[in-house]
Amino acid sequence: MLNILVCVKQVPDVNLVKIDPVTGSLIRAGVPSILNPLDANALEAAVRTRERYGGSVTCITMGPDMAAEALRECLAAGADKAVLLSDRAFANADTLATSYVIVSAARLLGDFDLIFCGKESLDGATGQMGAQLAERFGASLVSSMSLLRSIDFEKKTVIAERELERGIETCEARYPCLFTVEKTNYRPRIPNLRSWRASRFAEITRFTSATIPGLDPAQIGDPGSPTKVPRTYPPEVGEAGMMIDEGSVDRNVEKLLDLLGDVL
Ligand SMILES: Cc1cc2nc3c(=O)[nH]c(=O)nc-3n(C[C@H](O)[C@H](O)[C@H](O)COP(=O)(O)OP(=O)(O)OC[C@H]3O[C@@H](n4cnc5c(N)ncnc54)[C@H](O)[C@@H]3O)c2cc1C
Repeated sequence: MLNILVCVKQVPDVNLVKIDPVTGSLIRAGVPSILNPLDANALEAAVRTRERYGGSVTCITMGPDMAAEALRECLAAGADKAVLLSDRAFANADTLATSYVIVSAARLLGDFDLIFCGKESLDGATGQMGAQLAERFGASLVSSMSLLRSIDFEKKTVIAERELERGIETCEARYPCLFTVEKTNYRPRIPNLRSWRASRFAEITRFTSATIPGLDPAQIGDPGSPTKVPRTYPPEVGEAGMMIDEGSVDRNVEKLLDLLGDVL
């Protein structure tokens, strides 16, 4: 039986987030939060794997209390269990501190054969978490995984496809194995009303810094985060471009030379 973990993050809908021009920080107040879209693909990959081979899918997130809503979404879409890591002491965590807390808590839940993550988050978007988690779990890493082809239980290996810029790479990896998932082949399912209702009442396991034994306070939250973000700002918008469409290539080139002549 496969023991599968899916790491998910609740993110603000970045299309609606603005940046405070004075403080340079994101204005999150009043902005709806959503399940990180690529994490929905990761969950779908995990649930399909369980449907094919059997096992159990646990979703885990580190975030504020309201991140429980993202976990309920995962339960509705096929996860068996949900775990929320929430504590003021976890605030201001960078990827190093976040991966430390997630792996410390996951160890309390058992040994995971397969771990699925999104390729990156919509807000932080460092894309670092997958590699950091794999290192901490002592797992193989298959990044940009677009298809989990098969699992060999005797050899304890997986065959998976990776989506590269110029093609597809097939690779074999030992498990435990962590995948960062591409959206290509894993369109999230739409939960039916029954599973959506059940997810509203499902139990969510919660951990704080006090209930994860042996957690080192120096490695969590702000003290455990060497990355500092001094400023966030929107990119400067340059002058609008101009389309040249004079009806033929020759006339377009003529017009372009005219314009360049004006500039030079
Ligand atoms: C300096 C700094 C300060 C920060 N301060 C805060 C803060 O105060 N409050 C806050 O909410 N966030 C904060 N963050 C963001 C938070 O720490 C990030 O969630 C975390 O570091 C992951 O980084 P990312 O979003 O770039 O993930 P990526 O590496 O882009 O994410 C890849 C995948 O990792 C998994 N993943 C990412 N984050 C989580 C998570 N939290 N739980 C489970 N799985 C996850 C998902 O599968 C995701 O698709 C801060 C980040 C930095 C760099």
